[in-house]
Amino acid sequence: MEKDITLEYAKKLDEQDVLKKFREEFYLQPNVIYMDGNSLGLLSKRAEQSLLILLDSWKKYGIDGWIQGEHPWFYFSDTLSGMCASLVGAEREEVMITGSTTSNLHQLIATFYHPGGSCTKILADELNFPSDLYAISSQLSLHGYNPEEHMVLVKSHDGDMLNEADIIEAMTDGVALIVLPSVLYRSGQILNIKELTKAAHERNILIGFDLCHSIGSVPHELSDWDVDFAFWCNYKHLNGGPGAVGGLYVNRKHFGHKPGLAGWFGSDKEKQFDLSTEMIPASNASAYQIGTPNILSAAPLYGSLEMFAEAGIEAIRDKSLKLTDYMTLLIEEELSDFQFMIASPKEHDRRGGHIYLVHKEAARICKALKEYKVIPDFRSPNGIRLAPVALYNSFEDVWKTVQIIKKIMKEESYKKFENKREVIA
Ligand SMILES: *Cc1c(COP(=O)(O)O)cnc(C)c1O
Repeated sequence: MEKDITLEYAKKLDEQDVLKKFREEFYLQPNVIYMDGNSLGLLSKRAEQSLLILLDSWKKYGIDGWIQGEHPWFYFSDTLSGMCASLVGAEREEVMITGSTTSNLHQLIATFYHPGGSCTKILADELNFPSDLYAISSQLSLHGYNPEEHMVLVKSHDGDMLNEADIIEAMTDGVALIVLPSVLYRSGQILNIKELTKAAHERNILIGFDLCHSIGSVPHELSDWDVDFAFWCNYKHLNGGPGAVGGLYVNRKHFGHKPGLAGWFGSDKEKQFDLSTEMIPASNASAYQIGTPNILSAAPLYGSLEMFAEAGIEAIRDKSLKLTDYMTLLIEEELSDFQFMIASPKEHDRRGGHIYLVHKEAARICKALKEYKVIPDFRSPNGIRLAPVALYNSFEDVWKTVQIIKKIMKEESYKKFENKREVIA
């Protein structure tokens, strides 16, 4: 990328963008620059359309919507799972669109955590999203183990990044299960899933990953890397809508493993309506569903995943890296007087889909940005996440965002706000 910081160059990059036509498919508000697609992706017209189609099948068919209409509800989760599989690098049978990030993690721990003897610990990291740690901790308690002793958290040296070497060193004999993020939600660091999985398996430990911040932004090869399980939400980069149904992956070598938390939708589909008192689980990842799928909260995903298939995850990743490279360049060139620190990794194979800017006035800089109609994401205590998203953000959006930050810093207009987070940040 050229070291050109002019608006003309931003426009030139937009002209060359092979994904530019997708921007028109999203509901972008006039004069608003949305940089928060890693928290909640925007609505697209196609996602809206698929939601309306499923709503209509309820209107027209009532109970028969389970087997009639354009997307019969009984098979809808399977349809979505098939559409999602290539995004995680898995076979369609290994993926299930169901539950939420946290409830899927509960399911997967309940299924794959089998403590025995002195092998009782669950290994995670101190930078992981709190909900994951709460889930791990409560699962340990359910098994009668004190989480303070049995949840081992790998430490970060600088509060932003993790070292794979430290994680591998923590894979000791007492560890029964490992749960890690693919991309850290603050700094955006990518962990080396392949290397960590190999190291875990050499020690006979099962390992799973939280893909919330990578799915739809970074390609995965879960099957090739031989990951045991994974889970994610579909409302961030995948634009499935607030509280959209999540997803899980179970490596086919574990098929047949009894679900830790069983429910009738995990049944073999042919047998489910026998309504037998004994459950016959499905022979694939479908077994880890629990109850009736939330059809209306899964519906927008259909339209959204269609766009991912058309755009291709490789092209999305390529543009995403260009956007974050460009943002990095502009921050370095334009904001050098204002004590910002870029805490996301520079290397492409280390950087996820967003830039993490650290500044002691971060909370009120974010409030000032919102006043200027730039939507960032504040992470307590001092982080600003900016996610230029490949499908709907432009290079011009990035250029304008950095100009607005510069203006806010020059005018010191952030000073009229309190340096404190809002209820949701
Ligand atoms: C967003 C996010 C979650 C959210 O969990 P939900 O159950 O979907 O609320 C969990 N983990 C990570 C890493 C996240 O980024």
